[in-house]
Amino acid sequence: MKAINGKQIASDIVDELTAKTASIQGPKPCIAFIRVGEDPASVSYVRGKNRTAEKIGITPLLFAFEDSISQETLDAKIDELNADASVNGILIQSPLPSHLDEQSAFNRIDPNKDVDGFHVINAGRVVQEDSAGFVSCTPAGIIEICQREGISLEGKHVVVIGRSLIVGKTFALLAMQNGPQANATVTVCHSRTRNLKEITRQADVLVAAIGRPEMVTGDMIKDGAVVIDVGINRVEDASKKKGYKLVGDVNFAEAEPIASRITPVPGGVGPMTVAMLMKNTVKAYELQNS
Ligand code: NAD
Repeated sequence: MKAINGKQIASDIVDELTAKTASIQGPKPCIAFIRVGEDPASVSYVRGKNRTAEKIGITPLLFAFEDSISQETLDAKIDELNADASVNGILIQSPLPSHLDEQSAFNRIDPNKDVDGFHVINAGRVVQEDSAGFVSCTPAGIIEICQREGISLEGKHVVVIGRSLIVGKTFALLAMQNGPQANATVTVCHSRTRNLKEITRQADVLVAAIGRPEMVTGDMIKDGAVVIDVGINRVEDASKKKGYKLVGDVNFAEAEPIASRITPVPGGVGPMTVAMLMKNTVKAYELQNS
């Protein structure tokens, strides 16, 4: 099938993790979520992660703070969770309100509990190709999709649009690593890239992590390319109950006939991010109990 069923792959990973946690004697792995404010997307993401954790047998803890929380209060909660041996993983739901320093909060998490992989030490481990660290969940999820779908990156020209730590930059680093499921030749494009279309048309594997609804059109894609759409954009749609629909960064209708494989939105990369978060949490538990 041309469309990649990320929902199914994520569900397989959830089943594997459920079997693993069922075999654990004593306290189960535990993840703490910190959410600040009531941004509807953040509320919905944390709810989904909470639900998946429960399904797997990972104990979720939720700490929700008001928008006006100070950096000191946030730091104190991170310190408390770092010191709590029963908590294996800590996730701070991004984005934080602008008066808070998000990267400083990420860097305050004990790197061994940093299941989102945003701590400077874990980002550095990706650069050093040190597999002991935690890899940011969305890029790790894309690698997992490729692995499970038999999509080799070896020697391929991978073009990534987007240079964020959360997605684009980290995926580019993973794809260029010297090792299985990597060994790609990578080009990274961003908002200042000139002649974007000329570059994307050379991609054997095109990864779009931009945050602009359907920006990647059919004429930007080479025949037979693999297209990975990371974007999750809410666009108004009065016909939907919620008043909006989710679309990716790729115009699916135009891309689908050209691509050899393509991830849809929703149901592509999105569910993989949650599955990889749970995988990291079980890894953190294992490392802390070995
Ligand atoms: P970001 O805003 O941090 O980064 C966007 C990147 O796109 C930037 O590096 C910027 O240079 C680049 N960009 C912007 N306009 C561009 C243009 N016209 N041409 C070329 N490059 C351009 O966003 P992010 O956190 O990396 O997220 C990107 C998208 O992925 C968003 O839609 C986000 O919702 C989605 N996302 C999805 C998941 C998931 O689980 N599937 C996880 C994280 C982010």
